[in-house]
Amino acid sequence: MSKIICASHGEADKAYVCSHLVAEGAGFGFNRKKPSRRNPFPDAWCDNCEIVRAAHQGWTEESEKFLEIKLVCSGCYERMRILHTRPTVTLDDLAMLRWKCSSCEEWHTGPCLDFSHDAPHYWKTTYDRGFRWGMLPSGNLDTSASTFLDEDYCTIEGDHFVRGIIHLPILGAAETFRWGVWGSLNRANFEALLRAEEQHTSPEVGEMFSWLSSSLPEYPDMLNLKMWAVIQEPGTRPSFRLEPSDHPLAREFHEGITPERVKKIMFRRLPAQPA
Ligand SMILES: [Zn+2]
Ligand SMILES: [Zn+2]
Ligand SMILES: [Zn+2]
Repeated sequence: MSKIICASHGEADKAYVCSHLVAEGAGFGFNRKKPSRRNPFPDAWCDNCEIVRAAHQGWTEESEKFLEIKLVCSGCYERMRILHTRPTVTLDDLAMLRWKCSSCEEWHTGPCLDFSHDAPHYWKTTYDRGFRWGMLPSGNLDTSASTFLDEDYCTIEGDHFVRGIIHLPILGAAETFRWGVWGSLNRANFEALLRAEEQHTSPEVGEMFSWLSSSLPEYPDMLNLKMWAVIQEPGTRPSFRLEPSDHPLAREFHEGITPERVKKIMFRRLPAQPA
């Protein structure tokens, strides 16, 4: 009986962690034996528990008195690994960075965690931005426009795209790093989403299949990575859930991004910082 049912992750493997890792917070440290094929989720404990363990030269009857063990699912275990792993460069180390914001032209201090692209990869600057489909007096959508682009939706010669967010969990932090990118939608889903938005409701489908339709210079070829647009409350852009794969973006989505890499992305994309 190595499986449990988790409210967030469904049926998943059993794993054990110290009670501190289950509590609210981030960056408590994540100590464990090296994972192996036979045991991909070895017992894990926080840095405070590690001090006790080290003082007793290991987990002994004595040191385990301090340890309160919790059973979690492997999905929650992975989430805790990302939250509590202490990277060499932490998000707090980025607190003093100064950068010039491209939207408000002001200088900001701290990590910049949002980068977005305002058109799908396939959009050409020679296209006329046009107008989003409108609502006809009959209540039907006027779908006569075959090409348009606005802040949230785009159609290019009959192919449909929605803008959304890929949240990358940051190692050792509770925050996410966010790529604002575009994903394809089939016509039925695209219409359902537009109709719901016009009526300030939510579409019936909560997750829509999508192909990634943005290209970021930080990654190798990423067009057509498989994902799902997870529909949010009206007025909020969908978030994209990437299918697990060996692609670096899919790995960062599931395994987390290091603050060091966030810093590299900032330096690459933002105007030079004064010393
Ligand atoms: Zn602990
Ligand atoms: Zn879980
Ligand atoms: Zn700004």
